[in-house]
Amino acid sequence: MSELPYPYEAQASQALFDRAAAVTPGGVNSPVRAFRAVGGTPRFMVSGTGPYLTDADGREYVDLVCSWGPMILGHAHPEVIAAVQDAVARGTSFGTPGEGEVALAEEMVARIEPLEQVRLVSSGTEATMSAIRLARGFTQRAKVIKFAGCYHGHVDALLAAAGSGVATFALPDTPGVTGAQAGDTIVLPYNDLDAVRAAFAAHPGEIACVITEASPGNMGVVPPLPGFNQGLKDVCAANGALYISDEVMTGFRTSRAGWFGVDGVRPDLMTFGKVMGGGFPAAAFGGRADVMAHLAPAGPVYQAGTLSGNPVATAAGLAQLRLLDDAAYEKVDAVSERIRSLVTEALTKEGVAHTLQNASNMFSVFFTDRPVKNYEDARTQESFRYTAFFHSLLENGVYLPPSSFESWFVSTAHDDRAVQRIADALPTAARAAAEATA
Ligand code: PLP
Repeated sequence: MSELPYPYEAQASQALFDRAAAVTPGGVNSPVRAFRAVGGTPRFMVSGTGPYLTDADGREYVDLVCSWGPMILGHAHPEVIAAVQDAVARGTSFGTPGEGEVALAEEMVARIEPLEQVRLVSSGTEATMSAIRLARGFTQRAKVIKFAGCYHGHVDALLAAAGSGVATFALPDTPGVTGAQAGDTIVLPYNDLDAVRAAFAAHPGEIACVITEASPGNMGVVPPLPGFNQGLKDVCAANGALYISDEVMTGFRTSRAGWFGVDGVRPDLMTFGKVMGGGFPAAAFGGRADVMAHLAPAGPVYQAGTLSGNPVATAAGLAQLRLLDDAAYEKVDAVSERIRSLVTEALTKEGVAHTLQNASNMFSVFFTDRPVKNYEDARTQESFRYTAFFHSLLENGVYLPPSSFESWFVSTAHDDRAVQRIADALPTAARAAAEATA
């Protein structure tokens, strides 16, 4: 057993973690699940209902992660489960076109005006990887601008994240990504339009696209400053580059039309995942029909997938989207606001310096008293306070993201009882944050 830094136990989870570590690197299938940023034993979950998760030790938590965004209706929503059962009974994969994928694409296109055509894939990573390839194929250019602190999945060219200053050519951020793969990626500070203009000036006719999280949630929640996204779009349009809005996290979450529904800036290409899959591996990229026409088999840019448009995944996603009407978003926004004010109230009462930021119903708390506008700002927070805050809440039945650089997510299922449980746990957690030392 590894040593537990906090005085509570998760024996069944620890036993599973030990078993997992023998057969899986680090014991997990996605690194942040390992709790490395906060320490302790990752909870192995066995079931979820509404706003609650139950772990292998039989402890129940109010879930403020929602599978990192997808579960916007809560866990095991009866209508989503029924749609899945109905689909699964008819077979799990055909490797042919099917009506479910058409219906899902139609629902997406109907909600998001600039989305004229979509191609379904299986993960957000595939969506951004394919969008970048298409942008390069369409423009016949190589370079890509991304922003420090924005995550677009584990695409080789987009894992380059560090490097500040204007037009810094990124070095590979992880072993295994070669200089050649990252060398055409220009990493710029988020919310800095001057840096973007300077990069275009330094590389005339070379930049294929700018990819940005529509409203970033992967450095904590750092919304675009007013005019930033429109500025990106304008600079791209003036220079013959494509503006790619990554809505994998915000899509169908921040409004019925995602972040486009909030700021109305028209991207050339967009990427989606999470909510549109209803908890299954379904994702997509799409946008301007004239650009999408370059994709195989209509055009020369190759892209494919054995499980793309999988009938069970598309049934889950379609059922979830059809339930997401205006009333559902009002509910999610309202519960997000209630929880945000409870968090602020508890931390303020204990005199803990913090900044709570939100992008519609997505939110996160930074342990700093200054507004966070980019990744550099986010890194000045006192993350050790988050660790104490996180573990206190976990002990008292509230499951937060196991890192201070992540968005918190709520659902339509977070009812008064769930909110009360959070309210009851917060004062102790705020005190733990106040007393924490680096
Ligand atoms: N883009 C954004 C904005 C994301 O938040 C994520 C995942 O968190 C991805 C892309 C990658 O998606 P996936 O994990 O499905 O590959």
